[in-house]
Amino acid sequence: MKMKLSMSKIVGGCRLGILTNFGKKETQSMEIPGCLLYTKMGSAPHLTHDTLQMVQDVPVVAQLSLSALADLHEVLAEYKEGIRKFIGMPESVVYCSLHDPVSCSPTGYNNNKAVSIWGCGGRMELRASKFMAIQQVIQPDWFQCLSDGDILAGEVSKKRVRKSVDRSLSFLDECLQLQDKSPELQQSLMIGVIEGGNVLEERLRSARETAKRPVGGFLLDGFQGSAMTKETKLELLALVTAELPEDKPRLIHGIGRPDEVMECIERGVDIFESFFPYLVTERGCALTFNYDYHPNPERAAIKENEQTDVGRKEDETFNGPQGITSFEICLEKKRYQDDFGPLVDGCFCYCCQNHSRAYVHHLLITKEMLAKVLLMIHNFQHYFGFFCSVRNALKEDMVDQLKKIIISQSL
Ligand SMILES: [Zn+2]
Repeated sequence: MKMKLSMSKIVGGCRLGILTNFGKKETQSMEIPGCLLYTKMGSAPHLTHDTLQMVQDVPVVAQLSLSALADLHEVLAEYKEGIRKFIGMPESVVYCSLHDPVSCSPTGYNNNKAVSIWGCGGRMELRASKFMAIQQVIQPDWFQCLSDGDILAGEVSKKRVRKSVDRSLSFLDECLQLQDKSPELQQSLMIGVIEGGNVLEERLRSARETAKRPVGGFLLDGFQGSAMTKETKLELLALVTAELPEDKPRLIHGIGRPDEVMECIERGVDIFESFFPYLVTERGCALTFNYDYHPNPERAAIKENEQTDVGRKEDETFNGPQGITSFEICLEKKRYQDDFGPLVDGCFCYCCQNHSRAYVHHLLITKEMLAKVLLMIHNFQHYFGFFCSVRNALKEDMVDQLKKIIISQSL
C-alpha cells in the first residue's frame, strides 16, 4: 500500500489536497496545507492524552525527534513493538525528524560518514547503518532521511554547500538500500531531504537528484533561522518546489509564523511543524491573530481596539518576553489582571470557554503549572484553526483575502 496524494486544486501556487493510505491502519488521511502535531517524545507538551482530546482539529501526524529517541533505542530494541505502543499511542501516525525544531544543536560535527544528533546523553554520531537500525526499532510511519543540514551558519562556502548535498544524496542511497532489506520498514515512508543552503544551483541539483529516488515525500531543509534574507528564501523555495513531482508531499522545517507559513504555502509547501504555538506558550503568551477572512464589519471594529502587544504604546515597564511576535499577547502583563474576557473573543477552546485573561495572568504570575496547560490548549487550537482557515480559503477562492489579513498583522 502506497501513500497517495490527491490534489483538488492549485491556486496561485498554493496546493490543496488530501493524503490518504498511510499509517499502520491505512485509513488515515490528512488534508494539505496542514501541520504536524509537535511533541516531546510523543506527548504534546504540557498536555496529557486526555487534555489533548479537548483540542479541536489536532493534526493526524505527530512529530517526534530522533534526537530525543536515540538514547532510548536500546530499550526500544528490547521492547520490539515500535514507538507508537511504547508511548501509549498505538493509533497515532508518527513522523520522525532528525532534530527537535525547538532546540539548537551545535554545528561542525558532521562528516562524510556520519551525522551528529544531540540527545539527553550528549552527542551521538549516526552512520547510515546505525540510523536505519534505530528507525527499524522505532518503526515510524514517515521518517526524515539522514542528511547533512549543518550549514545554517550563513557564512559557508559553496564548496561546503556542495558537500552537504553530496553527502545527503549518498546517505539517501545507502538508507534506501537498507530499507529495501528491512522487513520492519516496508510500511515506513522515507522523506528525502533537500539541502543546498542559499546556493541556487545546489538547491536545484539536490531537488532533482532526490526526486529521482523512490522517496515518499520531500523535506525542504535549511530554511529556518535568519542566515538568508526572506527574499532569498522565498525565491529559492519557489524554484525548488517547481522541480518536484506534484504527487508527493513537501514538508518544511523551522517555519512557524503565520505570515511565513502563508508565503511558503504560496510557493508550493504542504506540511509545517507546530512548534510555534509551543514557543508562544513557553513565553507566557496567547495567540490572538485574526484568520477570519469573511468580511465582518462588527468584528473588524473590535479588532481595531484590540491590538496585540507589539507596536502598542507601552504604559508599563515590562515590554514582554524575547521573541514575542505581533500574532500574540503577553498575558503576564499587568494590564490583563482585571481583564475578564476570554483570551480571544469567540474562541471555542476549553480555556476561552471556561477562563479569563485575568485568571491566566494570575496563574502565570504565581507560576502555576496550569497556566501552560491552558495556554497550550488555546494556542494549539488557535494554530490548528488557522490551517483549517487556510484550506477553507483555498476551497472558497478567498486565499488572497486571508493572506492580506495575516500580512496586515505582521510587524
Ligand atoms: Zn481559546
